[in-house]
Amino acid sequence: MKFCPRCGGLMVPAGREGDSVILRCIRCGYTEKLSLEDARRLGYVVASETPREERTITTMKVSEAKRKPPKSLEEWEQEREEYREILQELLQEELEGGEE
Ligand SMILES: [Zn+2]
Repeated sequence: MKFCPRCGGLMVPAGREGDSVILRCIRCGYTEKLSLEDARRLGYVVASETPREERTITTMKVSEAKRKPPKSLEEWEQEREEYREILQELLQEELEGGEE
């Protein structure tokens, strides 16, 4: 973000002029021309103009999230414990039945 050199108000993008971005102060209306590169650096660039590097980072974040296990280790442990209990019960029934 950039602030007005006159009153210190917030400068917001007011339009484009070739390769420059026009910034206007929301308080006094002071305008300033900013190069597209500077606008990007200051975070003024709109979504459709997102630099390629940022898109790559987003894609990487998505694939990282996919690699992450859906369940926590504790949840897995708990589920395994429950499964073992059911198995033991079944085995017990089987054994008891066989004694008859
Ligand atoms: Zn101003």
